[in-house]
Amino acid sequence: MSVGSILILPGDGIGPEVMAQVRRIIDWYGEKRGLDFDVSEDLVGGAAYDKYGVPLADETMDKAQQVDAVLLGAVGGPQYDVLDFSLKPERGLLRLRKEMDLYSNLRPAQCFDALADFSSLKPEIISGLDIMIVRELTGGVYFGEPRGIFGEGDARYGINTQRYTVPEIERVARSAFELARKRDGRVCSMEKGNVMESGLLWREIVQKVHDEEYPDVELSHMYADAGGMQLVRAPKQFDVIVTDNLFGDLLSDVAAMLTGSLGMLPSASLGAPMENGRPKAMYEPVHGSAPDIAGQGKANPIACILSFSMALRYSFDLGTEADRLDAAIEKVLADGLRTADLLGQDGVQPVSTAEMGDAILAAL
Ligand code: ATP
Ligand code: MG
Repeated sequence: MSVGSILILPGDGIGPEVMAQVRRIIDWYGEKRGLDFDVSEDLVGGAAYDKYGVPLADETMDKAQQVDAVLLGAVGGPQYDVLDFSLKPERGLLRLRKEMDLYSNLRPAQCFDALADFSSLKPEIISGLDIMIVRELTGGVYFGEPRGIFGEGDARYGINTQRYTVPEIERVARSAFELARKRDGRVCSMEKGNVMESGLLWREIVQKVHDEEYPDVELSHMYADAGGMQLVRAPKQFDVIVTDNLFGDLLSDVAAMLTGSLGMLPSASLGAPMENGRPKAMYEPVHGSAPDIAGQGKANPIACILSFSMALRYSFDLGTEADRLDAAIEKVLADGLRTADLLGQDGVQPVSTAEMGDAILAAL
């Protein structure tokens, strides 16, 4: 029986190379664990433009709306720089996010012990770190009206508006509490209610959703500036952090870089629950298409593989299988295998994308 449906959109640059390793792992779960996924594949970004003349075809968009999880590689490349704005590869990605209404962006910061020396923090502060930042992705100051530069000459002024409605706060709060139930059961909400009215409302509504629907989860509140400080000072105190679009942008970049290379960072973007109870979901590595190393077999596939691990956990409720995959990656790194992006100066030979895939499969 099928566990669920996945749409794979490898995209451009190193996207297809790293996604090829994920496909092997999906096949492994079918053969060895009896977990069959209903997998289809399509084009996005420059690859879609080359074939269909648009960065995301309507049929692909429809398919993305139907499946349990979309896995995306990366989009873009210098050869598409000349295209009209509306045809650029990135527009394909933005269309997916917008039409699937993916309002909750998940960025884990997870430390693999073998890479603890990659962090600028001391090993005792960083080793064993496993936190999740939930960033509100479709509202707040990025979209609030009025916005713009008004007036003339030196009398000009710029305006942005941070605006959050109660339902917008409720839904992202629920998403964070649901995650916490699958993790360590703790949420810390961050805003700046001391200076921002939207922050006051944020704190009130997150507390209300907690009290009414998730009293079993431990909730704390922090001002976002203090939160940023704590994130660097003692990051292991956090499990799930939920915050708005702007603070989430800053805090997730800080948290991610506590741990290491761009080639190691997965992400998920979730929307409202579908009829089967699973959220609309898209999983993708944080890195882009890396045109400088595309086609050379040098890319680190781990960010993309960890994105699939997040899909196992958060779309298919297969937390134990996700743990298995994370442990295989941990083992391979502990054995000393490194793609080029993970190398220091100590003369270790890097492995290729496919060799990293081989090793992870062997460890599984
Ligand atoms: P985008 O605009 O699509 O986000 P970007 O300009 O931010 O792209 P990325 O494509 O994310 O850049 O990558 C930046 C650099 O980091 C690349 O040029 C590449 O050298 C390196 N890099 C990114 N991802 C990986 C990976 N998976 N493995 C190895 N190196 C990587
Ligand atoms: Mg980038």
